Amino acid sequence: MKFATTPDEIHDLVNNLNFKEKVDRSLDLISDAYREHGDGLVVANSLGKDSVAVWDVAKRVSPKMRGFVVTTRFKPVETKQFMSALVARYPETRVYQNDIEIADELYKTDPDQCCDLLKVQPVRQAIEEMGVSCWVTGLRCTEGRTRTDYLEVEERDEDLLKLNPILLWHEREVWQYLALRGVPVNPLYGEGYRSLGCAPCTQITTGANERDGRWIGTSKCGGECGIHTRPLKATANV
Ligand code: SF4
Repeated sequence: MKFATTPDEIHDLVNNLNFKEKVDRSLDLISDAYREHGDGLVVANSLGKDSVAVWDVAKRVSPKMRGFVVTTRFKPVETKQFMSALVARYPETRVYQNDIEIADELYKTDPDQCCDLLKVQPVRQAIEEMGVSCWVTGLRCTEGRTRTDYLEVEERDEDLLKLNPILLWHEREVWQYLALRGVPVNPLYGEGYRSLGCAPCTQITTGANERDGRWIGTSKCGGECGIHTRPLKATANV
């Protein structure tokens, strides 16, 4: 497959491929990566709609595909229940959580540090312990202001590739895929959320961008937890 090598090429594909072409491209991207990496290809799952879509696509490529979930003490109860059901159905999914002691309301005083400890560190641990050479994400370039410039294949850490197989999908196409495939989703979407995270940092919003409800009132508003921006190898100089 010919990869798009610039954000402009990505945006052309976002606007010019139809739904089926995008799904076929996602399947091809994961198939090619699975041939290359085998068990070193592992799917990250945040328990949101994009993650369950990419997990379903990956499972169509190989039922043996492994995954990991990073959860925190602050995830909503609905998300925790959804995670339990998913792990019961797919025991090849490992769960990572950092139970380190942190300051009260660190999510208010220093959300970057809170995310780094509770989200980025467990991703590093997963990548190390699961022997990941290529991790797969549900990142999409139309989700919000911080996600416009990614590519389908990234190499930000030495010896670790990142594959974003549904980078080109619109929000509507994610729901179209999930409906057509009958994939269960986190019930919080029924409440009106469009992007899901930890309870103190996630609100229902009606703005243009899906991620507008994340970290409202902080410098991270609509932003990133860090797993797509920070070094992820456990040996990285962080
Ligand atoms: S989303 Fe909020 S509560 Fe969760 S790790 Fe980040 S700052 Fe902490």
